[in-house]
Amino acid sequence: MEPILPQSDTGTKKNKAVFHGIGASKGIAIAPAFLFIKNIIEHSSAPLSAEKAEIEVDKFLAALQRSEKELRKIEKVTTKKLGKVYSDLFQAQIMLLNDSVLIECVTKRIRQELKSAPLVIEEEFEKYLEHFNNSTEQMFQERAQDLIDIKNRIIRNLHNQKLQSKIPEGMIVVSTCLSPADIILFTRANVKAFITETGGITSHISLICRSLNIPIIVGLSNFTQKVKTNDLLIVDGSSGEALINPDSETIRQYQNRSEEKSRLEAQTCRLADAPAQTKCGQPLHFCSNIDFKEEIPSIRSVGARGVGLFRSENLFIDNTKPPQEEDQTAYYKEMAEELFPDPLVIRLFDIGGDKLIYSTIREPNPNLGWRGIRILIDVPEILDSQLLAILKANDKGNIQILLPMISSIEEIMQIQSSLKRHVDNLNTIGLSCCEPDIGAMIEIPAAVLIIDEITRMVDFISIGTNDLTQYTLAVDRNNEIVQDLFDKFHPAIIRQLHTIITTANKNGCRVSLCGDMGSDPLALPFLVGCGLRVFSVVSADIPLLKTLGRHLDVKESEALARECLSFDSSEKIKAHLKEFQMRHVPQNVLM
Ligand code: PEP
Ligand code: MG
Repeated sequence: MEPILPQSDTGTKKNKAVFHGIGASKGIAIAPAFLFIKNIIEHSSAPLSAEKAEIEVDKFLAALQRSEKELRKIEKVTTKKLGKVYSDLFQAQIMLLNDSVLIECVTKRIRQELKSAPLVIEEEFEKYLEHFNNSTEQMFQERAQDLIDIKNRIIRNLHNQKLQSKIPEGMIVVSTCLSPADIILFTRANVKAFITETGGITSHISLICRSLNIPIIVGLSNFTQKVKTNDLLIVDGSSGEALINPDSETIRQYQNRSEEKSRLEAQTCRLADAPAQTKCGQPLHFCSNIDFKEEIPSIRSVGARGVGLFRSENLFIDNTKPPQEEDQTAYYKEMAEELFPDPLVIRLFDIGGDKLIYSTIREPNPNLGWRGIRILIDVPEILDSQLLAILKANDKGNIQILLPMISSIEEIMQIQSSLKRHVDNLNTIGLSCCEPDIGAMIEIPAAVLIIDEITRMVDFISIGTNDLTQYTLAVDRNNEIVQDLFDKFHPAIIRQLHTIITTANKNGCRVSLCGDMGSDPLALPFLVGCGLRVFSVVSADIPLLKTLGRHLDVKESEALARECLSFDSSEKIKAHLKEFQMRHVPQNVLM
């Protein structure tokens, strides 16, 4: 990727190169680079004698043992840092190492074909990888990455090369490709950030970095060729920008931004228990979007009022099978108890599409395919185990259920009736349970067009602006080529938001917004002006949003919303919102 000069309005000097990747975990880091290049190991293709083949088999079995030992160590560190869900990832890799079919096949081929173990392993793994690599789907690519990681680990151990787990303290690690194991091990050296040439926003390494609060930029092509170890780097995990050896003025600007952000966060965290409200005293509620239960302790410290979106599909972390009902029950129960009396909104598995997926069916257009509620309705085992787990975990009564990808009232009715059946069955066997409220994600234009009916039949709705923008504008949310068309301020989005919020309020249906738009300071006054009071966002954004809320007046925000609704272009809407922001929000708040 060619460098792009910074925009003049960033105030940076124009002679500095800014590289753009995908910001997959927020935060600013300024530190020296550590270029992590994995050794390419050459294998000999000379045939072995029968005697050497036996020695090779023993070496292969010993390498498997060493690999397992390494993975057990990584699994332990992971459990300590991130909990069991992530460590299951390594459990799955250990299972593959012990796969008797693989072991038998490799040992047989070494003996019969007299080939070296690394060569046979390369060939065997290649068969699986070919299938995965031909896929454009995230899940297959993720599985392929896991397989490459295991293959490389076995081969490295066959060559008796040591695992590189130690790096100098306080660096930014740059690599073509990092595995979850690399990330976990390197974080022990107080890594400041990561940059990889591959990977996507939903890849395991991105999820892990978000949970650990470490900035990461993924998909930064050819970056390893641009940077050397000890070059000074700036990483902005929100914008996906990386700068190499920036001048002192640029460093100062990023330092200021980072310090100001920390200062503001610290200030608002001190006010965490103070109510979130507008200047005129209208209460606002900020809840957190989370991917894992391990994030819960940190949400209190930013003043979140519970979890407004738990993306439960992350429990499918190893992508191979749905989580067991008992495991889910324990997981949800622990979360609900920790959050009580605040709510825990569990979105039923939104698998499929661009998300982690369970099915191996390849679809030509996954985002318009078998996803979310469609899978839940078609595969009752998945739906039933999740509903039962939620009911059994809801002792305290603070769990609510959110349905993903709703496009019709029939879909809602089917889940409502399944839930009712499970409640009745549990009651029949003497297990009384609190029935959770049911809400619908509003993220498909079809749902907006029937919002009056939907808001009469559910307890609450939550607006998913990420998918609503994708499906309204026909712009793939993960396709870089069309990212400039992914415009949440398009009049078509703005007008739908107004319709959704006002209809829900009219029908007495609770409404919140859990898409990324909720974190955008520009959008906040418009949304408040439409009548929205509940926002579910990434926890780290709550301090700023709370502070911004205190500068808003509801009457002025309502007038702003009316004006925005009258505009016919996104440019006019954004310009108007910026102008409003300049008038109402002190500049230092937004730095
Ligand atoms: C959304 O679509 O806006 C949303 C919150 O859900 P997700 O990003 O998980 O699809
Ligand atoms: Mg969505």
